[in-house]
Amino acid sequence: MNTQAVRLSALIVSLLLLGGCDGDSNSNNAETSAPVGARATLALLETTDLHANIMSYDYFKLAEDKSLGFERTATLIKQARAEFANTLLLDNGDTIQGTVLGDYQAIVNPIGCDTTHAMYKAMNTMGYDAGTIGNHEFNFGLPFLSQTSGVILNVDAEGMPTKKCAGPNFPQVLANVNSSKDNKPLFNPYTIINKTLKATDASGKTIESTIKVGVIGFTTPPIMNWDKRWLDGKVYITDTLTVAKTYVDEVRAKGADIVVFLEHGGLDNSVYSPSTESMGYHLSRIQGVDAMFLGHSHQVFPDAKSTVGQFNLPGVDKANGTVNGVPSVMGNYWGKHLGVIKLALVYGKEGWYVDQANTSTEVRSTRKSDGSYVAADPSIAPLVADAHKAAIAYVKTPIGDTDFRMSTYFADVGDVSAIEVVNQAQAAYVADYIKNNLPQYASLPVLSVSAPFKSGFGGGSDYTDVAQGSLAINNAADLYLYANTVYAVKVTGADIKNWLETAAKRFNQIDPAQTTVQELISTFPGYNFDIFSSSDVSYQIDVTQPVGSRIVNLMYKGAAMRSTDEFVVATNNYRASGGGSFPGLDGSKTIYASPDANRDVLISYIKNIQHLTRASHGADRSWRFKQVTTAGPVVFHSSQNKLALAQEIGLTNISLYQDDDGSGKGLSIYRIDLSR
Ligand code: MG
Ligand code: MN
Repeated sequence: MNTQAVRLSALIVSLLLLGGCDGDSNSNNAETSAPVGARATLALLETTDLHANIMSYDYFKLAEDKSLGFERTATLIKQARAEFANTLLLDNGDTIQGTVLGDYQAIVNPIGCDTTHAMYKAMNTMGYDAGTIGNHEFNFGLPFLSQTSGVILNVDAEGMPTKKCAGPNFPQVLANVNSSKDNKPLFNPYTIINKTLKATDASGKTIESTIKVGVIGFTTPPIMNWDKRWLDGKVYITDTLTVAKTYVDEVRAKGADIVVFLEHGGLDNSVYSPSTESMGYHLSRIQGVDAMFLGHSHQVFPDAKSTVGQFNLPGVDKANGTVNGVPSVMGNYWGKHLGVIKLALVYGKEGWYVDQANTSTEVRSTRKSDGSYVAADPSIAPLVADAHKAAIAYVKTPIGDTDFRMSTYFADVGDVSAIEVVNQAQAAYVADYIKNNLPQYASLPVLSVSAPFKSGFGGGSDYTDVAQGSLAINNAADLYLYANTVYAVKVTGADIKNWLETAAKRFNQIDPAQTTVQELISTFPGYNFDIFSSSDVSYQIDVTQPVGSRIVNLMYKGAAMRSTDEFVVATNNYRASGGGSFPGLDGSKTIYASPDANRDVLISYIKNIQHLTRASHGADRSWRFKQVTTAGPVVFHSSQNKLALAQEIGLTNISLYQDDDGSGKGLSIYRIDLSR
């Protein structure tokens, strides 16, 4: 809509000025001209949040994962280039961080000035036209950013490269971060791409014409909190909307026909402030923007069926992919998707402009409709073979050790051996962040919940099981299955009670008088069975009561937890934002949405502690079943041949009921004596 308005006024201005002169400055330049009425389609191809996923490989599971990886996105890119006569390939940031390979190249064995980052090596071979800088590009500090981007950043920081290092062979643009040293943009705020279009004139004849595409990049302002240790005093966030206006005008003045925003953020329509995380909604209203890339929130847009809140905002068309009329796309994350904006272009008096009515937007998945994945492009793997191999060797290296087996076989009936260390890591991380950044919450106790993510849904081997002994980095993936990030919520004692009541849906209601067998575990997923594991918190679950009335004797530090008591609870982005539909956990209670993965937080914690012991890291049961004598057997299913383990943990009220539960999935039926 903005473009049409701009074009209309531009037309009026040009008509007014149309005297003896040419009236169209572009036509002074022979290579840019086209006859008025010529048409072309320009496909803007978006990768976003690649997060150093180059190979279709899960470094934690040490196994291929075809659902991710740039080697398959590359196939989509080549398909799109075969389909469209005119394409621009643009990356929307969060590019070099996010896998073990990324960590390896930045921290473990940092690449030197002359080495191109593996992610950029792969991207360079695909021929990108431009990219922007995501929040995660700042994770490794400004010297590494300067080095890997191949841009001499004018900041005072120890270890800054003094020469241009090997980087991407495409421009990286970022408009809303300035250097404190010279108050100028840290990167070039924009680039203007001269693209030769294959077009057709009014008679249908194929012609060539140059279009000038202004590309302006923006990142998430909370980098100043997330990477404070690197950025404080060295760079600062400018007023994104102000600089957006300035640079749209500037690229237009320099002859840009159209303007594309690379916004490393999603959509948020709450009142604008310069520190707003996701600027996409506000940026869409800047006069003169023709198309916008979104990212950072790891979602698919457009998607008519999306239930994501940001895509239901007024002015957002999630079916057609427009935000306040601006064609927009978000291509998910980890190379799973390629965003495509098919810009319909018309040549007018002033040059090329966007025909909004004929422009469309889509997101293409590497996953085909039959559930298989597009083939990997064979040109990518050889480029990064050494880095890939080194990352695999690294993930097998020890980070510490444990004197106990950490498993979830009996997590449903009280074992916390695989959960307590996760809770400890999350709580320590959040407490540390609050101490340094959120003093207003410093007086509140920090608790943590986690759940047995692997709890037998897929059979007897679908449990977390980390052996006693050496711990390697990939064991952390077994302890924390999902690629969540740590979130902290501020809640009351009443909220905690409701939270635990919801988690207790994991259990069927048991009738103590029933003489026949009763199944203890319901269909409520194990990953929603949130558990405290701290000696500070204790509670009992009364499975004889209906859902909502099961949590009894909820105590904090030995005294009844009052409904008005306030706490901070460390959890993950999924739970804090409404995952599992826990009452009140709808995003409104989040006080810290960290950019760090729970799994990375766990790895750091173990590296720091080094030696995990059952006494300190695997035996703090916060909860027990309320004792009840049942007339008949109460049973549950778990992996076969694990009775000795139950006894070792101290679950002496467990016995083997039936060795094979008949499901054919390697499960036994165990009996639990709820009277003990
Ligand atoms: Mg991001
Ligand atoms: Mn990201």
